[in-house]
Amino acid sequence: MNKSKSTTSESKTHLIQSASAGELHAMLISGVSTGVAVVACSEMDVCRNLPPDPKLPILIWQNLGGSVDDSGGLAEVLIDSNISDVVIFGHYPCEIVELGLRGDVVEDPLLSPGHDHFMGLMTATRQKMRAKYGDRFDREVMMKGTQDFVLRQAEAMFELAEFNLELADRNLRVHAWLELPEIGDVWQYDSKCHSFCTRLIA
Ligand SMILES: [Zn+2]
Repeated sequence: MNKSKSTTSESKTHLIQSASAGELHAMLISGVSTGVAVVACSEMDVCRNLPPDPKLPILIWQNLGGSVDDSGGLAEVLIDSNISDVVIFGHYPCEIVELGLRGDVVEDPLLSPGHDHFMGLMTATRQKMRAKYGDRFDREVMMKGTQDFVLRQAEAMFELAEFNLELADRNLRVHAWLELPEIGDVWQYDSKCHSFCTRLIA
C-alpha cells in the first residue's frame, strides 16, 4: 500500500511567542532579551511601534511585504549583533501584499526589481486564499491573506534558524505582529488561540 507523504512542512506557528513592544522592552531591560531584529514591510513606519531605546541592538530590516526569504545576510546579522528576538512585522492594509494576493502583473519600475521574487513568495498564501474565497478580494480576504503571509514569514524565520547551526544555538524567539494604522493598534499573534489579537499591555 502506498503511503502518501505530506508535501508541506509541518506548521511552526505554535513556536511563535507573543510579546508586545512593552513586554519586549521589559525583556531587554531585564537581560532576558539581548537584542531585537524587526523584519517589516518597506511601506511601514516601524520606529513608532518599537520599544524605547534600551542601549541594546534594535535592528530594522525592511523589504517588499516584510519577507524573510528576501533578507540576504539576515542570519549573519542576527549572530553578529547577538539578537535574541525577531519580530515579523506586517501591516494591514498592505499594498504590496494586496498585489501579491491578486497576482497582478505590475509595471511600476519601483516595484519591478523585487516584484517577481515577491510574487513567488506570495504563491502559497495566494493559492490558499483562492481555494477558500475564490475571486473575492474584500477586506476579510485581504486581512486573512496578510495574516497568513506574516505567519509564513515567521515560519521561514524558524527554518532559517534551523538551517544555520550557530543561529539554532541561540534559541531565537520569534514574534509576529500586525500593525493596523486605521485603528491605531498593533496585534500580536498568540499561538494559544491561533490568532492575532490586541494585548492589554502596550
Ligand atoms: Zn506593506
